[in-house]
Amino acid sequence: MSEAAGLRAARIYVAGHRGMVGSAIVRRLEAVGCTNLILPAREALDLTEHDQVRGFFQKERPEYVFLAAARVGGIYANSHYPADFIHANLAIATNVIQCAHAAGTSRLLFLGSSCIYPRLAPQPMPEECLLTGPLEPTNEPYAIAKIAGIKLCESFNRQHGTDFRSVMPTNLYGPEDNFDLQTSHVLPAMLRKFHEAKQAGAGSVEVWGTGTPRREFLHVNDLAEACLFVMTLPRERYASATLPTRSHLNVGTGTDVSIGELAELVREVVGFKGEIRFNADYPDGAPRKLLDVARLTGLGWCASMALKQGVASTYAWYLRHRA
Ligand code: GDP
Repeated sequence: MSEAAGLRAARIYVAGHRGMVGSAIVRRLEAVGCTNLILPAREALDLTEHDQVRGFFQKERPEYVFLAAARVGGIYANSHYPADFIHANLAIATNVIQCAHAAGTSRLLFLGSSCIYPRLAPQPMPEECLLTGPLEPTNEPYAIAKIAGIKLCESFNRQHGTDFRSVMPTNLYGPEDNFDLQTSHVLPAMLRKFHEAKQAGAGSVEVWGTGTPRREFLHVNDLAEACLFVMTLPRERYASATLPTRSHLNVGTGTDVSIGELAELVREVVGFKGEIRFNADYPDGAPRKLLDVARLTGLGWCASMALKQGVASTYAWYLRHRA
C-alpha cells in the first residue's frame, strides 16, 4: 500500500483540531479522503493531564497523530504569560508523545515554531542552527517547550525505534486565527485594527514597534498540505532529508516582509485611507525570522499561496465570522 493510501485507511488523531492549524489539517485530511479521524470534544480531553491522555490513547489507539495542539500567542501574550506558555506546551508534548508511543502509534508529526532558533541566527535559518545561540527573550519559554518536543521525538526514535517527525512552521495566518488584540499575532491584529479604524473613520492606526523587524508569513492551508506531505514521506526519505538525528524540517515560503510593509499591504487589502503610526514603546522582538526551506523544497514541496491573496481571503473570512 502506498503511503497516501496508508494514511487514508488509518485511524488518525489530530491533537488541537479546533485551533487554526489543527482545523486546517482536518480539512486537508478530509479533502484527500481520510474518513477515520478521531476528534474528541475539548471538554472530553485535557492534553495537559497525563492520566486523561493515557486513557484516551489506550482506548482509541490512533495509528497516525498530528500534534498541532499548543498554547500559542503573539509577542504580548508570550511576554505576559511565560509560565502558561512553558508549562502547557511542555505538558502537551510529553503527554502526547509518551502516550502515543505506549499505545503503539506508528507515526507522529510534532508541530513546532521558527522561534526555536537563536535570536541572531544566520538568515535564512537552516535546521542545523538549532541550539547554536541564545533565544529571543520575548518568547524563550515557548521556544524551550517546542525544542523539548523535537528532542522528545528524536529521543523516542533513538531509544524505541519510533517514527516521530517534526516540522517547524514560520509565522502562520488564515481562517480560525485569533483576532484578540492583546494575545494575537501581528497579521490578524492588523486586519482587525485596520478594519475597525476604517469602520470608525479614524485618522490613523497604531502598529507596535518600529516596523523594521522582518517576518515570513505562511497561509495555514499551505502548512496543512506540507504536514500531510511530510507525514506520508517514506521513512528513508524523511531520514535522508533531515539532520543525522532525523530531527525536524522547516516549513515556510522562503520570503519575508518588514512589519512596515505588512502594514501597508493590510491597509490596502482592507481599504483604510488613514495613516500608519509606529509605536516604538512596544517591543520589536526578533529582528528577523526567515526560514531556510531548502530541505523541504528539495523533497518536492513548496508553498503556493501569495501573501496578498492570503491576506485578502483571511480578511474575507474575518468579515464573515468575526467582524
Ligand atoms: P513574533 O513573531 O513572535 O515577534 O510575534 P508577533 O506576531 O506578535 O509580532 C511580530 C512583530 O509585529 C513584532 O515586531 C511586533 O512588535 C509587531 N507588531 C506590530 N503591531 C502588532 C500588533 O498589533 N500585534 C502584534 N502581536 N504584533 C505587532
